[in-house]
Amino acid sequence: MPISPKRLGGTCVNVGCVPKKVMWNTAVHAEFVHDHADYGFETAGVKFNWRTIKEKRDAYVRRLNDIYENNVKKARIDIIRGYGKFTADPEPTIEVNGKKYTAPHILIATGGRPAVPSDSEIPGASLGMTSDGFFDLKELPRRSVVVGAGYIAVEMVGILSTLGSKSSLLIRHDKVLRTFDSLISTNCTQELENAGVDVWKHTQVKRVTKSPCGLLDVTVASVAPGHKPTEAVIRDVDCLLWAVGREPSSDGLGLERVGVRVDPKGHVVVDEYQNTTRRGIYAVGDVCGRALLTPVAIAAGRKLAHRLFEGKQDSRLDYENIPTVVFSHPPIGTVGLTEEEAVAIHGKDKVKIYNTSFTPLYHAVTQRKVKCVMKLVCAGKEEKVVGLHMQGLGCDEMLQGFAVAIKMGATKADLDNTVAIHPTSAEELVTLR
Ligand SMILES: Cc1cc2nc3c(=O)[nH]c(=O)nc-3n(C[C@H](O)[C@H](O)[C@H](O)COP(=O)(O)OP(=O)(O)OC[C@H]3O[C@@H](n4cnc5c(N)ncnc54)[C@H](O)[C@@H]3O)c2cc1C
Repeated sequence: MPISPKRLGGTCVNVGCVPKKVMWNTAVHAEFVHDHADYGFETAGVKFNWRTIKEKRDAYVRRLNDIYENNVKKARIDIIRGYGKFTADPEPTIEVNGKKYTAPHILIATGGRPAVPSDSEIPGASLGMTSDGFFDLKELPRRSVVVGAGYIAVEMVGILSTLGSKSSLLIRHDKVLRTFDSLISTNCTQELENAGVDVWKHTQVKRVTKSPCGLLDVTVASVAPGHKPTEAVIRDVDCLLWAVGREPSSDGLGLERVGVRVDPKGHVVVDEYQNTTRRGIYAVGDVCGRALLTPVAIAAGRKLAHRLFEGKQDSRLDYENIPTVVFSHPPIGTVGLTEEEAVAIHGKDKVKIYNTSFTPLYHAVTQRKVKCVMKLVCAGKEEKVVGLHMQGLGCDEMLQGFAVAIKMGATKADLDNTVAIHPTSAEELVTLR
């Protein structure tokens, strides 16, 4: 019996992947509208209405909520709405709305929530919103400031800026996506700037105040290495969005009462089989803090179910080579080791890199030019492909198939032996020299 206080579907369906992808698709439309004239279409008078897409998106999410609810009911599972917490009973027991439940197997899948600096850390921080609030916006903000350098910050600022909000991105260092391969972090930072996002590097928010016209004034401090610190005020901001990380929803669960250990950041500690430190209690998904992605949570849950209920003793999720897409403009696809990780593991002389950068054929006739960059990271004499990183038109849909090949241990020769599909961007990956 799942215990959920909110609408079914969790973060992904309600305030994550699904509504985000609808907004990314909307932004991609705006880019295509820009190119229409180059393709011979007359587009005078094209207008964008945020409310239209918000209403359609919300209706779609509600449909998904209903579908999930029906599926759960069809599977004869009771839904209990409320916040669950462990009690101090000798047997692992959960209390919801004053009623107690126990079971031989209990799964913690409480996910996470956006982190926001406290007002004592940054005065006025609570005047801003998070990605959750983004999905409540009734209108396209005129002036947006997004704080953060991770994929949610990149995606949010990309949507806002592409749809026409004057947008600034505040990052603490000089690049976004710093845990990604250097090709991606460098290229994505550049693409944000090319697209007109005002990227403030080495910058942090000092304070947030209400401006005379009821909007926000965001005071920032920039401390570039070798330069004197400077302060500036970004005025009349109607959307200040914190995208500075996510924290696990593990507090308030009473985990200490049942001996389930958490790490210093509050993530539930699990072994490779999703066992917590208390027998009969398991955890999957974002609350565990590893590869915060919907398909990872689902796959870990499935594997666990096979182990517990089908006697498949070795059933566990292999966390290696998990493909990831960032819905930036253009999108990013990445799987496996970064060049930097591969060199650290295999040694510099055992790693071979294949790179390419080109302008996709789509842009042959457009004034707007956005290049595509790709990198293959290969290791050992046989040049096993251990990493693939790319950013460009279509890279989001391109990745899944290559991820299968890489998971199966493909070598550079395997890619070379595959006949190219012409004319596509993907063919570049099987013709790299
Ligand atoms: C803006 C954004 C965009 C994203 N985009 C993508 C993407 O494109 N692709 C992708 O793969 N991932 C994406 N993610 C990440 C993805 O949403 C998460 O990895 C995924 O939702 C994790 O699933 P989960 O089941 O672990 O947790 P969640 O989906 O967070 O679900 C946890 C559920 O538990 C409930 N809960 C919490 N505490 C309690 C309690 N005490 N009692 C009862 N119920 C409780 C919550 O209300 C929630 O319904 C995105 C996330 C965000 C925020």
